[in-house]
Amino acid sequence: MDKNTSTDLVQHINALPLIDTHEHLHKEAKYVKDGPDVLADLFGMYIGDELIVAGAAYDNVVRLLDPTYADIEARWSGVEAAWQLCQYSGYGEAVRYMAKAVYDIDTLTLDAIEAAGPRNQAIRQPGERLRLLRDVANLDHVQVDDFVWPCLPDASGPSFFLYDFSWVDFVSVRFDVNTLEAETGIATTNLKTLKQAMEALTAKYAPVAIAMKIQHAYYRTLAWSARDDADAEKALQKYLADEPLSDAERLCLGDWNLEQGIELAIKYHLPIKIHTGFLAGHQRYFTHPDQTRAGHLAPLLAHFPEATFVLMHIAYPYSDELMAIAKHFPRVYLDMCWAWSINPHHAAEFVRKALHGLPLNKLFAFGGDCVWPTEVVGFAAQARRWLAYALQQEIDDTYLSEAQTIQIATRMMQTNQRTVFDIEETRSTIVALGV
Ligand SMILES: [Zn+2]
Repeated sequence: MDKNTSTDLVQHINALPLIDTHEHLHKEAKYVKDGPDVLADLFGMYIGDELIVAGAAYDNVVRLLDPTYADIEARWSGVEAAWQLCQYSGYGEAVRYMAKAVYDIDTLTLDAIEAAGPRNQAIRQPGERLRLLRDVANLDHVQVDDFVWPCLPDASGPSFFLYDFSWVDFVSVRFDVNTLEAETGIATTNLKTLKQAMEALTAKYAPVAIAMKIQHAYYRTLAWSARDDADAEKALQKYLADEPLSDAERLCLGDWNLEQGIELAIKYHLPIKIHTGFLAGHQRYFTHPDQTRAGHLAPLLAHFPEATFVLMHIAYPYSDELMAIAKHFPRVYLDMCWAWSINPHHAAEFVRKALHGLPLNKLFAFGGDCVWPTEVVGFAAQARRWLAYALQQEIDDTYLSEAQTIQIATRMMQTNQRTVFDIEETRSTIVALGV
């Protein structure tokens, strides 16, 4: 890629602000008060799991990520060998991009990490979180899933930080009826009142939300079927009585709750983001890998032709099946969030396959899936590098001209997202609310 740093395509991709459709960013107050030190910043995201996969002891990684542990040398030495093994993986590459862009570190060594301390202090200040994301990562805005129902204006950047309205607790049957009552004034006693509370909750937050978000693949299968009210009512009554639900009852109520969510998302014009494929962590994904396949969603997608679905993470490693789904359903879009860092070569290949297999309006280029702004800096740089790489290959194979790849990059980085999300309307609703 370095030989291409001066091409018009690379310059265009670097200069154009990216729409970031998926992060889990902590609020500014937490970043300033409890933000990560250098080591926790560099290794706090997915790379922590990968160090363990590479052979680092779990306790060493826990110590690495604990800023209260004063001995930096001990924290670093416990994972240094594993880092050498991970530095070229997608996660490792994102760390190296972050280290360079945020801390001006070329090679991670104990000296370099210790020397970065003052810089770390300097960026954990009010306003820096926004500056890192907007000016260093060069993002147009970010869409944040902070796992909760409220989507209140973010005073640290009201029109920059847009929030997802989380529906995952309903679908995974972990919702708290007391909180629901506090939010809506409606006590859930049966299916009818649950439906009323869901409607009130959605009416409250949908106008300021950018999307509905559901990552139920972490808790259950993506397979869905329409459920009878009577069966769902039985399961709900057990849930309300705090009785243990069987897997079948939990799935039944979760499916019913998902159906309500989709209907409300249609009514309130919210695209529905759904996690597909690979799960974060280690030592757990392959216990039920099949349940995260996007193919399980087909009955749901067919049942709700008016709903807009954004399927996330290219369903790694089931990406071809996902592509077939987007090829078949008009209102299904594919978000490459997290995909570049999971496996950048696979993601680049996915872009090239999609260019020849899908209409051009289907792909969204980026989301980092991170909690700290510094991480997003690294992940965004990585996405830009590999998107440029994928498109350059199309030029090299004489399939596309550079001008055509520049148009495609703009589509993937901005235009497609603007078509699907009500970005400007959500922003003006938030700004009108004041903070
Ligand atoms: Zn996520």
